[in-house]
Amino acid sequence: MPETAEELHARAAGALRMPPVEEWTTWPFEGELMPRSLQPPVEREAPRHGEGGVDCWRCGATDEGYLWTDERWRLWPRDPPGGLPVVLLLEPREHFGDPGDLPDELAAELGILIARIERAIRVIGEIGRVHVCRWGDGSEHLHWWFMARPARLPQLIGSFAAIWDDVLPPLPEAVHRSNLATVARVLAEAGGVSRA
Ligand SMILES: [Zn+2]
Repeated sequence: MPETAEELHARAAGALRMPPVEEWTTWPFEGELMPRSLQPPVEREAPRHGEGGVDCWRCGATDEGYLWTDERWRLWPRDPPGGLPVVLLLEPREHFGDPGDLPDELAAELGILIARIERAIRVIGEIGRVHVCRWGDGSEHLHWWFMARPARLPQLIGSFAAIWDDVLPPLPEAVHRSNLATVARVLAEAGGVSRA
């Protein structure tokens, strides 16, 4: 039997821990911290943006704002950029909510595309790692994050790269455009349309 939100809250609200973030070299901040108090559960989860495809801003977007497209998938850049060399989002053209909602054929294509996009980002050069992430609590329209971190800056490794993206100053425009153009060109060599 799963633990209910009420049970979890009753058990955890007075027993929160403070991890030793000051010892984590990848933690981007300095200074004293304490955990926020754990708020009680809500009755039901808030709907995600574009639930059921209604008023979904990704379904309604034209191909112009995308970096690369094909018949079933579209890839768009975080633009204007943050501090990381490249941040891209991959989504199916059709509205699906969660990975388990994809039909097998699209799920299989997704696997191939993740590999192709990760490879294309590495062609930029000076990339230490491409993190492939999926969070699904904002917009319902399924989307996968590709976050490249710079090479040879050990503080930027791991999951805090997503935070460092907001801490580092924004990428210079010329570097941003050049990085996107490289990814779009390499992807289009194997199919689809570059829109960089
Ligand atoms: Zn949608």
